Amino acid sequence: MESVHVVCPHCHGVNRVPVAKLEDDPVCGKCQVKLFSGSAVEVNYKSFQAHVGRSQIPVLIDFWAPWCGPCKMMAPAFAQAAQALEPQVRLVKVNTEVEPSLGNSWHIRSIPTMVLVKNGREVARQSGAMSSDGIIDWVRNHT
Ligand SMILES: [Zn+2]
Repeated sequence: MESVHVVCPHCHGVNRVPVAKLEDDPVCGKCQVKLFSGSAVEVNYKSFQAHVGRSQIPVLIDFWAPWCGPCKMMAPAFAQAAQALEPQVRLVKVNTEVEPSLGNSWHIRSIPTMVLVKNGREVARQSGAMSSDGIIDWVRNHT
């Protein structure tokens, strides 16, 4: 049976999940928390490396900051998109004020910027706030 690495949103451990079981509310083998909760995961430098580096499902990163009005406007849309896109896609949020080195190493010049990553490699990016439907369509067009 084909399986994929899924990174836990709670302990950030790597789980191997059969593709056929992704929709069945899988739980983490380490911490027993659900691997998909229908919400975006706030990541720091270390957990970012786990999700972007180890996940075998695509990862959508939202680079944002608390002082950015459009970022705050987009937050509910991003949360709604997480509900629609999980478990096919993992959605994570990077606060670039707390983790400026991540914004720098990913060459983020304006926020909000979304970057879609597959198997550790960037496949698409988009700057500016989007609606939840806009985010969902954009991701599905690139996965
Ligand atoms: Zn866990």
